[in-house]
Amino acid sequence: MAKVVSRIEPDFARQAYVVEALKGVGIVTRQFVRNIFGRKDTPTVQYPEERKPYAARFRGRHRLMRRDDGQVRCVACMLCATACPANCIGIVAAEHGNPDIEKYPTRFEIDLLKCIYCGFCEEACPCDAIRLDSGIHSVPSMTRRDQKAGVLNLMAIGAPSIAMQGGEFKAESHGGDSH
Ligand code: SF4
Ligand code: SF4
Repeated sequence: MAKVVSRIEPDFARQAYVVEALKGVGIVTRQFVRNIFGRKDTPTVQYPEERKPYAARFRGRHRLMRRDDGQVRCVACMLCATACPANCIGIVAAEHGNPDIEKYPTRFEIDLLKCIYCGFCEEACPCDAIRLDSGIHSVPSMTRRDQKAGVLNLMAIGAPSIAMQGGEFKAESHGGDSH
């Protein structure tokens, strides 16, 4: 049902705007004084001492999972980079010494300034090599270069994965098992 809003007819005083402008200044001044002297009414979070809890669906930064022997699980198949809508994953592949593994990434880099944290890379990965479940917020930095997360950085917050190569799980392993 449509809501009927009553309109205030403009009179000379309103159309001159002087009184309305002064009323506006009064409201802003009142709010300013209230914020200065009545901090309990100010909805300000005193970060970093105070932190608001994240939503339950917050996933956090990417991490690269490891094999049992500590090597990165990534086989440099490029599926995550292909699926990434922000085009922010850079991978350089090399031949692995183990013929069962075939390839591994000599360079795996995510530009966190371009990433939109959509999770497509995690969904595209066939071997549980990349996850977005660390719960770690991206930190600010002084340079753009520091926002490029490399393979060691991504593995540092990774964990061994018990997924079978190819994406099949032996048991439920999703969700921050590195913390
Ligand atoms: S979360 Fe999305 S934007 Fe970020 S690297 Fe993965 S696919 Fe790309
Ligand atoms: S999809 Fe998985 S295995 Fe393939 S390159 Fe990306 S992280 Fe590595």
